[in-house]
Amino acid sequence: MSAEVSEDIKLEEGKKESLNFIEEQLVKDLAEGKNGRRMQTRFPPEPNGYLHIGHAKAIALDFGLAQKYGGVCNLRMDDTNPQKEDTEYVEAIKRDIEWLGFKWGNIYYASDYFQKLWDFAVALIKQGRAYVDEQTSEQIAEQKGTPTQPGVNSPYRDRPVEENLRLFNEMNSGKMEPGKMVLRAKIDMANPNMHFRDPIMYRVLNMPHWRTGTQWNAYPMYDFTHGQCDYWEGVTHSWCTLEFVSHRPLYDLFVDWAKEVDGTDHPIDDNRPRQTEFNKLNLTHILLSKRNLLVLVKEGVVNGWDDPRMPTICGFRRRGYSPEGILSFINKIGYTKFDALNQMSLFEAAVRDDLNKRAQRVSAVINPVKLVIANFPEGEIEVYQAVNNPENEADGTHEIVFSRELWIEREDFMEEAPKKFFRLGPGKQVRLKNSYIIQCSENIEECVVKDAEGNIVEIHAELIPETKTGQANSDMKIKGKTIHWVSCQHCLEAEVRNYDRLWMVENPRDEVAAYSKEHGDVRGIEAMRPFLNPNSLEIKKAYVEEWLKTRKPMDYLQFLRIGYYNVDPDSTPEHLVFNRTVGLTDAWKKMNK
Ligand code: ATP
Ligand code: MG
Repeated sequence: MSAEVSEDIKLEEGKKESLNFIEEQLVKDLAEGKNGRRMQTRFPPEPNGYLHIGHAKAIALDFGLAQKYGGVCNLRMDDTNPQKEDTEYVEAIKRDIEWLGFKWGNIYYASDYFQKLWDFAVALIKQGRAYVDEQTSEQIAEQKGTPTQPGVNSPYRDRPVEENLRLFNEMNSGKMEPGKMVLRAKIDMANPNMHFRDPIMYRVLNMPHWRTGTQWNAYPMYDFTHGQCDYWEGVTHSWCTLEFVSHRPLYDLFVDWAKEVDGTDHPIDDNRPRQTEFNKLNLTHILLSKRNLLVLVKEGVVNGWDDPRMPTICGFRRRGYSPEGILSFINKIGYTKFDALNQMSLFEAAVRDDLNKRAQRVSAVINPVKLVIANFPEGEIEVYQAVNNPENEADGTHEIVFSRELWIEREDFMEEAPKKFFRLGPGKQVRLKNSYIIQCSENIEECVVKDAEGNIVEIHAELIPETKTGQANSDMKIKGKTIHWVSCQHCLEAEVRNYDRLWMVENPRDEVAAYSKEHGDVRGIEAMRPFLNPNSLEIKKAYVEEWLKTRKPMDYLQFLRIGYYNVDPDSTPEHLVFNRTVGLTDAWKKMNK
């Protein structure tokens, strides 16, 4: 493997590909022979919810670079908090990673290391590097000081080793009240880095864990778990998001101590993981963080984690975004050391580009009005081959049926059409997609049939003979556009779910926080409600081509002239259901100009 890696590096240098700072560092580490030229990463989700688009950014890096450089990326469930975790989430996480197109080497669980972490903590107590503190969490917080003011030592800081060992065991006995004692590392209460001010290593939860059952009652904290797991697994590059920058020195210290306790602290032994931080993915009009997403699910604002309005991977999948589209966006925004807020429209442009390449083109009429082709005989039909995807010939064609009575979009006809209206109206001509050029009479009386209230219920037009592709008049030039249609007798009724943004504001995270502050610290749904879009889902009836009966859930479609859609898993041949993935153009931008 090492030889291959160095060849790759030469190639990379030759190509002068522009690498992000993380990849640059990786290439340098490999070139310098660090970690014996090994490369191993991990993706460490906490199984307390479903993965979201932010996680996809971490996944693309952890798995993507391991794949590119012949390394390995393991999946590690960071399950140190039994209160909120569940196997349902573990299975969902695995499914989502696979759907994004990545493969892990091994699956590890932080809970696999509970015994090892316990033994390590005991070793640290014996070395005088950890102590049991009996103060309340408020007292501990008070003594912490501020970044500019040193903290105060706990009165329990110097208790004898034997007492610490006894109390630490008691912490795990199941008989101790949670919050009564914690195990803290004895580092430096005056350190400018607050994480060094005797951080908590263990707390009592007295709660069964979904994997280890009732074996443990005291559980390790994140900071006392993550680095050691990385080190024991042989992770070389531990990439995480920027909020962990200030944790890094502690991460390194615990790894140093672990190496020392394991007896691998040799000066030339650089077998250790290195943490590097990158900016979180942050998009306008969405709220990430599993904690907040859980509120939306529990409060019934959305229909579950995979609701197409959710920024979860499974929500995006159900909405009809492809893994390639999502990853292409992530690749575009890149990895930096500065937090940013990316525009949702940038994401939508990336997925639209991708769907353009893969979506099958079909006709669906969402706001129908009947069009009668007066000079086409009743009872007759013509069958055409419609191109599935002009971007990819290999996708082939499918049959569509033309007849005397068609459905077209109501907006495609105007009774008093201005000159610049290039669709149907008295005296106007348009081409029917894949079919004839048609024209309406100049005389409005001949053109439409109205009901008693004056609503148009039928439009009449005539086809111009020989204007289909390949026929004598096919190149006839007209001002009108090409419009889509379906044959009344050869179409199916379908349910169309048009999704819009869930959040009306650009930055829900900040708005929700500000609102909460202004309104007596209201939490959860109360703080969210004012910013939620009440019209984020509109359900419509549509007439669609019969061919759509053959499409499978999740198939990517383009409803011609309307937008990208996919087949919802709720869809059955008897009741077709489609989700709007994204419009053909940025409708939101236009609307909010
Ligand atoms: P959340 O706050 O949504 O629960 P988290 O950071 O607690 O997210 P974890 O399950 O702990 O979620 O995260 C697993 C990995 O995904 C971590 O390495 C974390 O840094 C990364 N990650 C989480 N959110 C984002 C994001 N918005 N952008 C990039 N990476 C992220
Ligand atoms: Mg978390």
